[in-house]
Amino acid sequence: MIRRILLITFAACLISTAVAEDRFCQNELFTIDARYDAGAFAKCKFKSEDMVELTIKPEDHKVVVEQPWFSFKITAKTADTIHVRLKFPSAYARYWPKLSTDGVTWQRAADEAVSTSRNEKKMDVVVEVAPAGTWVSAQELITQSYYDTWLAELSAHEEITVATIGVSTEGRPIQLAKTANKPEVILLLGRQHPAEVPGALAMRDFMNIVLGDSELGREFRDRFTLLIVPLMNPDGVANGHWRHNAGRTDLNRDWGPFKQPETRAIAKLMAGIDELGLQPRLMLDFHATKYTDSILFYTQTEEDVTNPVSFATNWLTSVAERIPDYSFKHDPRPVSEQPNTKGYFFVRYGIPSFTYEIGDEADREQLHAVTPVFAEEMMRVMLQAERP
Ligand SMILES: [Zn+2]
Repeated sequence: MIRRILLITFAACLISTAVAEDRFCQNELFTIDARYDAGAFAKCKFKSEDMVELTIKPEDHKVVVEQPWFSFKITAKTADTIHVRLKFPSAYARYWPKLSTDGVTWQRAADEAVSTSRNEKKMDVVVEVAPAGTWVSAQELITQSYYDTWLAELSAHEEITVATIGVSTEGRPIQLAKTANKPEVILLLGRQHPAEVPGALAMRDFMNIVLGDSELGREFRDRFTLLIVPLMNPDGVANGHWRHNAGRTDLNRDWGPFKQPETRAIAKLMAGIDELGLQPRLMLDFHATKYTDSILFYTQTEEDVTNPVSFATNWLTSVAERIPDYSFKHDPRPVSEQPNTKGYFFVRYGIPSFTYEIGDEADREQLHAVTPVFAEEMMRVMLQAERP
């Protein structure tokens, strides 16, 4: 018994030491610190007094999609310029570094400050460290505190209730914002994949319009219940994962199996909707992708008839008519073998089900400018659908 306790204590020490070392290092001039929500790098080594090499690795060996998330804060003791080399042994330099001096507002690193090796396994970034430190991150930091603030704002909205509908593998709440029950239901999901921050940015702008104080918004909310789950994978986000939850699973491959608590929370939520006799009408699932610089929608094909019929084409056509100079992609695909969200909701309910993908490096200001049009036209076209 004593031996067992000793072993456990020893193992715990090993783990805590490893984590601390993995997420922090320093020399006489600089500190590299990733001990915060979504902070991440696997290894850190100073190659000279003003050059540091960081190795970026996925959360577990089952990760197959190359989404090399990194995020750390650099502080300088006396010098102010540091050369950071990012190494991606199991991926490539997918994300252009974003910099921040306050952890809230971000900008892309300057072109001349970044160079990538020919095989894209290494990326060098020259960082001018601000007096109070500079964050360097694969994407903007949109973590639990951001969602907490947003959900607190939503709960102040008289039409919206915020509730915890489940608990993640590591015990974080899965939170739902919902409007009052109407016969028809729209489901919006975000952040199944932790690294896919641009999807989170778009979702926030989209929801601001749908929940906003416009005539269209009010008419829409009079007819449809909104179920909004903006943070599906809180453990993955907190731990700086590339793709998985804390159960080493891609949540967007668990729709049907429902082996993970995060997806099970939605299954349970929808079972309640079914029980009340309410009718799901549309599912939008926000992600990000390397396959576009703007927005890309994966939908059903015309052969997979949805109800409302041809909703995807009608919606996206009316968006294109309003912003003809903005090009985005509509990529209808047959139902995949993979148990993903889009396939699940189409097969289960026959409703239009979207993977709403934002480009990794999509221009943020442009995204912010066009997203209201997507939200408004979604509402307009849904309001034209016949009632079930
Ligand atoms: Zn994704």
